[in-house]
Amino acid sequence: MKWTAEAERAIKKVPFFVRKRVRTRVEKEAGEKGKTVISLADVKETQQNYLRGMESEIKGYRLERCFGASGCPNRACESGELYAKLENLLEQEKLLDFLKSRVQGPLKFHHEFSLSISDCPNACSRPQIKDVGIIGATVPLVTENECSQCGNCVNICREKAVHLFENTVKVDNVLCISCGQCVRNCPSETLTVFQKGFRVLLGGRLGRHPRLAYELPGIYSEEEVPAIVKKCISYVKEKGTEGQRFAALFQKADYKRFI
Ligand code: SF4
Ligand code: SF4
Ligand code: SF4
Repeated sequence: MKWTAEAERAIKKVPFFVRKRVRTRVEKEAGEKGKTVISLADVKETQQNYLRGMESEIKGYRLERCFGASGCPNRACESGELYAKLENLLEQEKLLDFLKSRVQGPLKFHHEFSLSISDCPNACSRPQIKDVGIIGATVPLVTENECSQCGNCVNICREKAVHLFENTVKVDNVLCISCGQCVRNCPSETLTVFQKGFRVLLGGRLGRHPRLAYELPGIYSEEEVPAIVKKCISYVKEKGTEGQRFAALFQKADYKRFI
């Protein structure tokens, strides 16, 4: 659907954490009226409806993902199944009932348990500022296949983690962020996949005391990630006596209890 320049400017002023929802709703409401172009008046009308009904929009959690599933070539690990598993878990945990029982006063979006999945380290869905951030990973492995010395891996690695020697190649595991680009661009399979999975980051937030999430050591499978998330929710339910967010309760020193 087309948007006028005025309407685009107006939607950009909506706080980023609800912008996507408001945008989708503007298009839905305008579409229901048979419109094909969104005007400033459409944005204002939906915005007012949205703010009036904000509390009814809150479901206790926010699970977001990047647009990798629509065919992004950078995906290091596909998260479709994981997304479905997490959504199922979050529904079962009845976080909305929990928040209602703990939070004094009206519920707001910032009370919700927030999660975001990005299918590669480019992190388009900003997992670093969520209670739980998940990043798709492909860990490379150097095999004994003969290296043609084409240099693709060195050129593609933005972390400068690949080093080429006369007969072989080496990956610096400290610098490598598991994007998988070197593997995808190696014509001789000298570099191949050692492991595919997800990096997990905990305790990120914005607001008055912003903090980037802390990354758990290791790479986790599609089964292990929901188990970690379940432990985070149990922690919130145990410690969040006033409905505090996970990120407000999480201490880096305690990270082992979530693995
Ligand atoms: S995070 Fe990576 S996979 Fe997802 S949309 Fe961005 S570049 Fe593509
Ligand atoms: S996986 Fe990505 S970061 Fe790691 S060595 Fe390959 S290109 Fe570099
Ligand atoms: S991309 Fe593969 S074949 Fe080319 S230099 Fe790197 S390891 Fe060797």
